[in-house]
Amino acid sequence: MAITAHLVAPDIYQARIPLPYQLNHVFCYLLRDGSGWTIVDTGLNWPEAQAAWFAYFEQLGINPKEDIRKIILTHMHPDHFGMAGWFQSQSGAPIYISERELHTVHYIWYAWAAREVNMRHYFQKCGLPENLVETAIQAGNSTAALTAPLPKQIEPLPADGQIVIGDRTFSIITAPGHSDGQALFYHAPEELLLSGDHVLLKITPNIGLWPESDPAPLARYLASLDALCDLPVKLALPGHKSVIHNWQARINELQAHHAQRLALLHEKSARGITVFQAAGEIFDLSRLTQHEIRFALAETLAHLEYLGDTGALQREDGDVYFFKG
Ligand SMILES: [Zn+2]
Repeated sequence: MAITAHLVAPDIYQARIPLPYQLNHVFCYLLRDGSGWTIVDTGLNWPEAQAAWFAYFEQLGINPKEDIRKIILTHMHPDHFGMAGWFQSQSGAPIYISERELHTVHYIWYAWAAREVNMRHYFQKCGLPENLVETAIQAGNSTAALTAPLPKQIEPLPADGQIVIGDRTFSIITAPGHSDGQALFYHAPEELLLSGDHVLLKITPNIGLWPESDPAPLARYLASLDALCDLPVKLALPGHKSVIHNWQARINELQAHHAQRLALLHEKSARGITVFQAAGEIFDLSRLTQHEIRFALAETLAHLEYLGDTGALQREDGDVYFFKG
């Protein structure tokens, strides 16, 4: 089957880029930008992803050196950021990401060895058994190896909150939770949103508390969903799964999902629980890959932290995090 980028809105093509994970794709977007193109999000740098990009370039007649004007990233996660350096080396185009994400890019991707020391400590504090700490560290290293080459230069998104791509002027919306400084791009005349991983169909965006996270990612995510629920959106173009037509209804489902998860964790923590034990109450840990276990812990910790902040749970912050009803 030929790889084809789909036209999802006038002058906007959706590119499905393969990922070597259970979640086997990320959607990136090609937007006509005057006589050239702007790329939104990039993929992980492995041979299948490069082959997909070359197929899309051929389909759309794109010569990267001549035609790529800008590379814009919704957030710093490896499936979105990973090929940014590759794109820059192909095209020489500037890369833009939000100022907050740029800070995390430096903390994580340009200082990987130090970050993994922090991750090891973090997994231990979550109560992850030592053999699983090792595999979780290895999983992180394998992803970091595909987040290469690192860009030579990255610019912060424009401070005036707007970015022009072709005939459209997009408003930049900061949408924290899934990452601290994720940026969404909204074109009001069409009620069109490039929505990153903020709202997804079929799967719930990972809301995690990581060593580098600002405090209270879940509270900030829920506040952001409240704020964005009334935004008129006819079409949201996400990083994974199907395009979204029922923006408000999906936000309501995500709000209900987190409320349920908080209630369950509150109940299960009555007699005291570590993050790893609590993760076992909401995920079937035996079925998770070594990648997914990282996200399961961060997600669980974000919910426990929320319950700690509201006073629903007591928190002990010793060698191991411990939460109790
Ligand atoms: Zn993400």
